[in-house]
Amino acid sequence: MALSLCGLRAPSKPEAGERWAARTAVLLGPSETNYVAKRTPSAVSRDTLNTDKLEEVKKLFTAHLENKGLRKTGERYAILEEIYARSGHFDVEELYAGMKERGLQVSRATVYNTLDLLVEQGLVSKHQFGRNLAQYEKSYGYRQHDHVICTECHKVVEFCDPRIHGIQTMVGDLLNFHILHHSLNLYGICGDCRAQAAARFSASST
Ligand SMILES: [Zn+2]
Ligand SMILES: [Zn+2]
Repeated sequence: MALSLCGLRAPSKPEAGERWAARTAVLLGPSETNYVAKRTPSAVSRDTLNTDKLEEVKKLFTAHLENKGLRKTGERYAILEEIYARSGHFDVEELYAGMKERGLQVSRATVYNTLDLLVEQGLVSKHQFGRNLAQYEKSYGYRQHDHVICTECHKVVEFCDPRIHGIQTMVGDLLNFHILHHSLNLYGICGDCRAQAAARFSASST
């Protein structure tokens, strides 16, 4: 079965797949800006809303609410729309503040419990990037990716390497697990922070 990962199509033969993964990982290196997006925690940018995708997500959410016997309130759908109109990572307070700013009436408690429902259903992913507040991002229909986090400036960079999916599948087969999702965060000090530290060091030693 051909896998579509990182927006690319992998060959179906395993040996060919291995070579493909090695080649693709090079393609997906930091210089390939198409595949690597820098995201700062405070950056708020908005995506052009794909209405077809939003309708699909809404349908899935409706089914989930019905399944759980929960009310299909306008507030909950407004939160879902706000999330799918955003690009990048955000925390619950940023989401709440963004909605208030745009004149949308929602309670903080509803934002919290709707996020929980969306995470539970896999429509939103939740990350702990080593800070107190969890970060969220929309996940339905979006490219699978992992994160590199700067421990100094808290910048988050996304990357996609199809070999990680290969490991997930292999470990699942080996240990007889049906793997649902994974979380991989790499922590380090980014180039900008290292350059700043070097500049401070040379300034203090002259
Ligand atoms: Zn940094
Ligand atoms: Zn991300």
